[in-house]
Amino acid sequence: MTADKKNSKVEAVVSQRTLNSSESTSLGAGSKSSMWFYPGEELADGEMRVTLMGTGWGNVVGPSQKGPSIFVELGNARKDAFVFDVGPGCILNYNAMGIPMSRMNHIFISHLHMDHCSDLPFIYAFGPNLGDRFKKLNIYGPSGPTVYKEDESEGTQLGIKNMIEGMQQFTQWHTTSFASMTYGADESYNLEGNVTELDYRACGGTAYETGGEDEEDHVIIKHFPAVHIIDGAISYRLEWTPKGHDKPIVLVYSGDTLPNDFMLEYGAGADLLVHETAPSIDAVMNGANATEEEAYAIVSNSHTPANSLGSIIQKTKPGLAVTTHSPMDPRSMESLIMGVHEGFQESAVSAGVAGTTPLNYQVGADLMVFNLSKPTKDDPLEVTTRMSSLIDRPWPVREKVNLSEDIMDDSEVDYYKSAEAYDATTNESKGPVFADEDTNTTAS
Ligand SMILES: [Zn+2]
Ligand SMILES: [Zn+2]
Repeated sequence: MTADKKNSKVEAVVSQRTLNSSESTSLGAGSKSSMWFYPGEELADGEMRVTLMGTGWGNVVGPSQKGPSIFVELGNARKDAFVFDVGPGCILNYNAMGIPMSRMNHIFISHLHMDHCSDLPFIYAFGPNLGDRFKKLNIYGPSGPTVYKEDESEGTQLGIKNMIEGMQQFTQWHTTSFASMTYGADESYNLEGNVTELDYRACGGTAYETGGEDEEDHVIIKHFPAVHIIDGAISYRLEWTPKGHDKPIVLVYSGDTLPNDFMLEYGAGADLLVHETAPSIDAVMNGANATEEEAYAIVSNSHTPANSLGSIIQKTKPGLAVTTHSPMDPRSMESLIMGVHEGFQESAVSAGVAGTTPLNYQVGADLMVFNLSKPTKDDPLEVTTRMSSLIDRPWPVREKVNLSEDIMDDSEVDYYKSAEAYDATTNESKGPVFADEDTNTTAS
């Protein structure tokens, strides 16, 4: 490519929406007049709101990029809310956005790499006491391959159920110590029956569904295989048909994956496609101080290069495609955006459809908010992109709950009204307290 040609391409790219574009943008007319999203904004009937609560990857996380997480809210009577992945530090963004743990009650994990689920023990452990989740948490995630001991006597299936059993062990001191001041603890720490293991090989399997297909306000979350290092990674597709509409609003989330045919089939026609995108080999080498071989291993073995994403967008034709799981490094931004544009163009040329469809693409950032709305069933879907302002609150986010009426049992109410409870707030030193003589070694 000549230098001139390359420059004109760069200009074309720069004129597209890029990182941190806070203006109201949409596929149709902008449905939101404000440039910024302020937490607490009401969701209109029939409107879907998708917030990127974390767009980092691996251990590439920091104050401005938490581990991957997507929060989805539906403007319906049930006030449905869904969480996809809970990577490291994403809970800070949920707090800053004023999302209480009671709204994070359906968590869908794409695969069991820690950059996608490491905040889960924290959410599980704090939900029922300083949080406001007084009921069982619902966790959904993939099954996995079975690994055997060396003598092949015993196998462990590396799926979500195995991981959650481990998580309950991991948090046992915490949950035991909080049991006496955790309202509804018996129920809220009990996950029996609430962990749904999804067959990672299933194509278009159902992870969650509410309402029948012919009923209004139908929500279905499907899953399909992702291709990511070893077996046991999946992608998700959420379809919601708002009341009075005859077509669903569709969100697709890739999780981590190499480019694959499952995405072309089951991810097609999304209104919003949130897809992982690998940085270039050069960016990984420079940014992570990696050798070329190491960079190839990271990008080519397990992730989707930018030009492949361009091709996926051309083939699946989402309303808007958004990159996640990529470092927000200004030095690598150009190659990322250029790569997507080039892949899209090349794919369109080889399909003989160049110039027929525009590329609607956005680099996702933490706290980027998308509103998807369709006022009536005949209106075109509008997608609005905004950045959110932040609330740095000094207290946990909780919805107002009447603890004594709704959550505590009578004996708890009696205790917390009693002089004994008030005495306990004086904080007088009582010396070490041990449960029994066997452990009370200092006193013997
Ligand atoms: Zn990842
Ligand atoms: Zn991964």
